Amino acid sequence: MRFDFFPFLSARRSQRESLPVGQTLQRRDSNGALARLSIARRSTKVNLRRALRGGFTFRGTSSLTTLRWLILILGPVPIVMLSWSTSTWFRSGGQAVAARNDGIVGTAAHRDEQSARLPTIAKRAKVRVARDATLQADCDRTAARLRGMAGDEFAVLVYPPFVLGGDMPRATLEGYYRDTIAPAVRAMQARYFRSRPHRPITVLLFSGEESYNRYAAQWYGDSGVSIYGYYKPSERTLLANIATGSGTLLHELTHALFDFEMRDPPVWLNEGLASLHEQCRFRTSAEGPWIEGLVNWRLEGLLTVIRQGRLRSVEALIEDPDFRGPLVGTNYAQARYFCMFLQQRGLLEVFFRDFLDHRADDPDGLEAVRCALDGASWEEIDRAFQKWALSLSP
Ligand SMILES: [Zn+2]
Repeated sequence: MRFDFFPFLSARRSQRESLPVGQTLQRRDSNGALARLSIARRSTKVNLRRALRGGFTFRGTSSLTTLRWLILILGPVPIVMLSWSTSTWFRSGGQAVAARNDGIVGTAAHRDEQSARLPTIAKRAKVRVARDATLQADCDRTAARLRGMAGDEFAVLVYPPFVLGGDMPRATLEGYYRDTIAPAVRAMQARYFRSRPHRPITVLLFSGEESYNRYAAQWYGDSGVSIYGYYKPSERTLLANIATGSGTLLHELTHALFDFEMRDPPVWLNEGLASLHEQCRFRTSAEGPWIEGLVNWRLEGLLTVIRQGRLRSVEALIEDPDFRGPLVGTNYAQARYFCMFLQQRGLLEVFFRDFLDHRADDPDGLEAVRCALDGASWEEIDRAFQKWALSLSP
């Protein structure tokens, strides 16, 4: 015969042992009406858990038989006596029993919670695995196409979401992935970007200007391109003349990640951040990895324009619909150093987060810039920015 003098405990126990067949559960609804539920012989443990979670409890003591009352009152007596007379070992055993009971209740509750979450967890994992498998397959196809185009002269590697190709030894290409691409992606995803690329990004690295120009023309029909590199959003492909340094690769890589973050990012920010990474070092703080932009060749031109009193307001730069127009060189420099100005004040990440959060209302990031700088006026911002730039040494 079962000891049912603690009906609720036995209900808990029944979840792992047998069900209290014949017991009745009850609950009152908001109108005070009584609802009853009997545990039938064929009830499942799941049904009982559902009932308990649904607010049903075992019926009150009135449902207990006289015998059960007696057991309820007298039952604890030998238990209490026994516990008084036991050794330290048993006391610790007693604690262990209590802890185990609590543990079982907690564990059962935890298990319930876990089993409730399981479908979601499993579904997510399934989606992730499916997505990873799709991305891997897409990357493999892209790599096969590239091998077909390039022939033996090229090393081709797959590190999803990246497909790397280069007219260089395989080990050199691997080195660019390990030492430049992987840490940069980690840092940018930690600090700026929330989206993860789910389609292949092709990274083509050329050992010199000749092969860079030749393949750009041959494969994509592009001529008169930047001597450094460029990113083709339509192909999700970046081409870099790696002889100009790995900063070129980082510049184009920034565009590739920005491309997955949003359609049509503000040009000043896309080019400002990409240019900031042209000269940089990888660093790690308590918040994780980050990329510190350093002074580079774009400073000199910027300083000349500032000294001549010709640098326009940052506000005008941000609002300029023709960033790559006649002022292109100065625009790149101003955008780069304005990003560096924010970064040196620890505000670039703050700005970026705010920009992403309010992009719908502030598509170019004008308000986000002013918010990051405590609501300063554009005059104040320009004065502080130019003064800071003039303090840098090329
Ligand atoms: Zn660019």
